[in-house]
Amino acid sequence: MTEKFCKPAEATDFADIKENLRIIRENAAEAMDKAGRTDTLKIMAVTKTVPVEKINYAESLGLNLLGENRVQEFLDKREHYSENSEVHFIGSLQTNKVKYIIDKVTLIHSCDSIKLANEISRRAVACGTVMDILFEVNIGGELSKGGIAPDTLYDIAKQTAELPGVNIRGLMCIPPPGSGEIYFAKMQELYCEAKAKSRELSGIDTLSMGMSGDYEQAIKYGSNIVRIGSGLFGLRNYNLINQ
Ligand SMILES: *Cc1c(COP(=O)(O)O)cnc(C)c1O
Repeated sequence: MTEKFCKPAEATDFADIKENLRIIRENAAEAMDKAGRTDTLKIMAVTKTVPVEKINYAESLGLNLLGENRVQEFLDKREHYSENSEVHFIGSLQTNKVKYIIDKVTLIHSCDSIKLANEISRRAVACGTVMDILFEVNIGGELSKGGIAPDTLYDIAKQTAELPGVNIRGLMCIPPPGSGEIYFAKMQELYCEAKAKSRELSGIDTLSMGMSGDYEQAIKYGSNIVRIGSGLFGLRNYNLINQ
């Protein structure tokens, strides 16, 4: 962790964000090289709690993929975002909120049940669109967390593949903090299996994993979207640094 990374979000200024991004891009490029990868990696700016001016500044540095966690916060901020930015929804999503985001995001990373897939389908069809989704996998088997258990993933994918208005693009995970590489390796396996198993799911091309603390490891295991919040904008939680 760099020193800048440890600053609380309130204390970061534009220069910090610029420097953080420089470091992240450099580290990511190095991790891609080390893994022998020449495919495209997307770096997402995770915007929760971040003021619009800082998001706009990140956009001005070429970060045009934004990740949203909270429906209301997103609805409040979105009109200020750059027209060039693409927005993905990455937070846990209640079925009754799907209608608010269905025509405002291009990928939902956090589909974690057939019930949610059904609602996304229903709302997408009503809007005349097709929504791209990832399945969030509870790869660490943590009881406290959402996400689909790996052994039920295939069933849920099969059922979802039959729904109109939904297009399965891949997998996402939030592994237990500090768990090392083991879960990224498992995710890579699941992702490759999913691609191989299902010809009808041939659009599968997205593996979303890796956050501020572990994106380099995730890249090693094939992640092609890393979701970075605090490493870019500063730590969100004062309790973590007030000592
Ligand atoms: C907050 C969040 C992130 C970013 O976390 P950092 O550790 O701050 O980079 C990534 N993914 C999801 C789903 C999040 O909620």
